[in-house]
Amino acid sequence: MKRLSVLGSTGSIGLQTMEVVRSNRELFRLEAITANSSLDLLEQQVKEFRPKLVVVFDESKYAELKRRVGGITEVAAGVEGLIAAATISEADTVVSSIVGIAGLIPTYHAVMNKKNIALANKETLVAGGRLIMSKAKENHISILPVDSEHSAIFQSIGSNKKSELSKLILTASGGPFRTRTLEELQHVTLSDALNHPNWKMGKKITVDSATLMNKGLEVIEARWLFDVNAEDIDVCVHPQSIIHSMVEFVDGSVIAQLGLPDMKLPIQYALTYPERMPIAGEKLDLRKIGTLTFEKPDTAKFPCLKLAYDALHLGDSACISVNGANEAAVELFLNEKIGFMDIPRLITAVLEKHETLNNPTLEEIIEIDQWARKLTLELYEKRCNIC
Ligand code: NAD
Ligand code: MG
Repeated sequence: MKRLSVLGSTGSIGLQTMEVVRSNRELFRLEAITANSSLDLLEQQVKEFRPKLVVVFDESKYAELKRRVGGITEVAAGVEGLIAAATISEADTVVSSIVGIAGLIPTYHAVMNKKNIALANKETLVAGGRLIMSKAKENHISILPVDSEHSAIFQSIGSNKKSELSKLILTASGGPFRTRTLEELQHVTLSDALNHPNWKMGKKITVDSATLMNKGLEVIEARWLFDVNAEDIDVCVHPQSIIHSMVEFVDGSVIAQLGLPDMKLPIQYALTYPERMPIAGEKLDLRKIGTLTFEKPDTAKFPCLKLAYDALHLGDSACISVNGANEAAVELFLNEKIGFMDIPRLITAVLEKHETLNNPTLEEIIEIDQWARKLTLELYEKRCNIC
């Protein structure tokens, strides 16, 4: 039996992880769950799964959570609480599914405490890839991808040697604005951006999918997970989201993983690997799909993808800055303070001002992230005419 701590149990990935656990009670036991602030969901999950520890990040909600479930389980709050959940001795595997850089500190502590990681929180590797992967190696733990593209690559690599790989090909749906013109993109709204054609996800990643920053972050995530250079990672727009990604080998053979768009598969595979377990529901029937199409991404319309490649070439601090600026800019966009195309404008301005630092410590990563967020807000306030 696997004993899990699920960080971000109330989010899109967290809730689907609960479904996987629910369908495989004999395989999994939940030891800890955490959320930012959603007490109703946390309370329901405590009552259903009886974890040993429940954590709410927002400390102002601690007393209320304690009142609701304190008789059933241990309750904690804040960053200390997240770290306690990430390192709880009863768990052997941590599902890292907090959104944004907020997932970095607990994931780091989980790695240092020799927990295996099922990783959804891509921002952890975008900002801390070098550090996290080296600590994972030192601690002899595995980091298995939950992100569907990386799961597809992991599955496609199979037992092949790293020296046999020649290219990773990440597929991208293209998001809701794939067919819009550059001129139209200046006027798209928040609700247009939140309307993803194929996937139902949290708001931040849905906006990232509309700007293609999600694919950019995934390129950086792939660089660290599979230890390959940026030049060996390609992006191919595939609007049907049936091929979840591909690997090209040195002999020219391309192996892909296909399936209907459903995150339960990569979540479950990260938890049952190397075994596969059945999943109920509709299966892929290519005869019903009919046509699979492919396009080159348009980086003039979606500069965020190019910004992510630029950051990889510039170094670790550039990746942290792009990630931090993106989080701050997406937050402004979600609050309808800036337009859609202001997101890449703000990130570009932050990237231009950043100073290169490679191999940062955890503290340095957090400092650079905060610098990038602060600068993004300052730029927004100074140049409000961008909005
Ligand atoms: P979400 O917004 O639906 O959920 C985020 C979870 O994190 C919630 O439980 C929330 O309470 C918690 N949280 C948010 N801010 C927090 C903070 N400051 N401190 C502690 N907890 C906090 O997000 P999601 O769509 O589930 O995405 C989670 C991660 O998984 C992201 O990194 C995303 O890129 C990645 N991912 C998601 C999907 C998907 O289908 N949703 C697919 C691939 C990768
Ligand atoms: Mg993905």
